Amino acid sequence: MKKKIAIIGSGIAGLTAANLLKTNSNFEVMVYEKESTLSLEEGYGIQLAPNSISILNKIGFRNIDNNNIYNPSKLNFYSAENNKICDLNLNRFDFETVKYTTLKRSTLIEFLKNKLFENHMKFGKEVKKISRIKGKLLINFIDNTNDLVDFIIVSDGVFSKTKSIIENKIIKPRYSGSIAIRAVIKASEDFNYESQNISLVMFPNSHIVIYPINKKNDLNLVCIVRQKLVKNIDIQSVIKKEILNKNNNLESLFQSSLNSWPIYVTNKPTKSIYENVFYLGDAFYTFIPTMAQGAGQSIEGANELFNLLCEGSEKIQSLYFEKRLKRTKLINTRSKLNYFSFHLSSPFMIRTRNFMLKKITKSEKFLNSYLGNIYQKN
Ligand SMILES: Cc1cc2nc3c(=O)[nH]c(=O)nc-3n(C[C@H](O)[C@H](O)[C@H](O)COP(=O)(O)OP(=O)(O)OC[C@H]3O[C@@H](n4cnc5c(N)ncnc54)[C@H](O)[C@@H]3O)c2cc1C
Repeated sequence: MKKKIAIIGSGIAGLTAANLLKTNSNFEVMVYEKESTLSLEEGYGIQLAPNSISILNKIGFRNIDNNNIYNPSKLNFYSAENNKICDLNLNRFDFETVKYTTLKRSTLIEFLKNKLFENHMKFGKEVKKISRIKGKLLINFIDNTNDLVDFIIVSDGVFSKTKSIIENKIIKPRYSGSIAIRAVIKASEDFNYESQNISLVMFPNSHIVIYPINKKNDLNLVCIVRQKLVKNIDIQSVIKKEILNKNNNLESLFQSSLNSWPIYVTNKPTKSIYENVFYLGDAFYTFIPTMAQGAGQSIEGANELFNLLCEGSEKIQSLYFEKRLKRTKLINTRSKLNYFSFHLSSPFMIRTRNFMLKKITKSEKFLNSYLGNIYQKN
């Protein structure tokens, strides 16, 4: 008998899991999405390190149109005054068709969606209740439809409402203390950085990351700024206070339409009360985005879960949870350290950080353990 699997949420996590599960005929998969369509309008970028590309290649990512992705070879670090501190060679983590890749988030979602048949996805579906019936799980949706399944993968993002419903308690993420300001800009002649690589510019209290997202001169700009949580944020005055007051040569970066979002993070991951429910992606744990690994971990988690489900082990939940927890802790520590060191304000600390950065970006030993451990898994 085929095992029925319901996936709640069609973000990068849910869609990757569905694509992997679809390759095994022992599974019958359905993705349930709250929204009425997939949002493909969003042009903002995403960075994917080799750990996630090697998994995406299993479902055909290497055949994606090359014009819609980019493979930067370096990460350049800059001071607030635009002085280049040092660079990190990203190629050292690449192998054959598995390369550090940047692209539009919507390009990735479209690729993942195109691999699924229409009959693997249902839209406008939100969970009302989940109950156990003879070892299976009955899902009742708000629109009064239902499904009886063997496993549920919950991948409905950082605010995961489904998690609160299943665990029967209110589970809320917390504000990280920073907002993200994003824009897509064009690489023009007066662009201050290398448009074919990733640029990281560090200020006291904020940092900017800019990278190419295709071969059409589009660049993703994301600015992470420490900021109190307020309802109506004046993006231009935040940019002026935190960036332009420290370097007014950067005005041209902020001419296009800007959007901002508060960044939320989740508390410690927990197992579900049901053995056949698994949390995946941001619903499992949401990182502060200073290691660019949230989507990468969604993809890795989907792959781990897929392998365990294929093996048919009886202790899938514990095995999955322990593996994921270990990985999450490792990446979380690095994400927090990056967050702290990117935003230093004391001149002494900044000098020390820059000195250290120059050293460690050339140290094989350090790079292998700090980044290699993360980028070269799988
Ligand atoms: C500023 C910023 C920059 C980032 N940059 C990077 C990067 O460069 N690289 C990287 O790897 N990661 C990055 N991340 C993290 C990454 O974006 C996320 O970790 C990743 O997108 C999480 O995917 P997900 O599928 O778990 O969740 P989501 O993308 O949030 O998807 C959840 C889906 O579930 C649906 N849904 C919600 N509620 C329900 C419900 N009740 N029922 C059914 N469906 C529901 C939603 O509509 C959505 O489709 C960044 C994050 C931020 C904030």
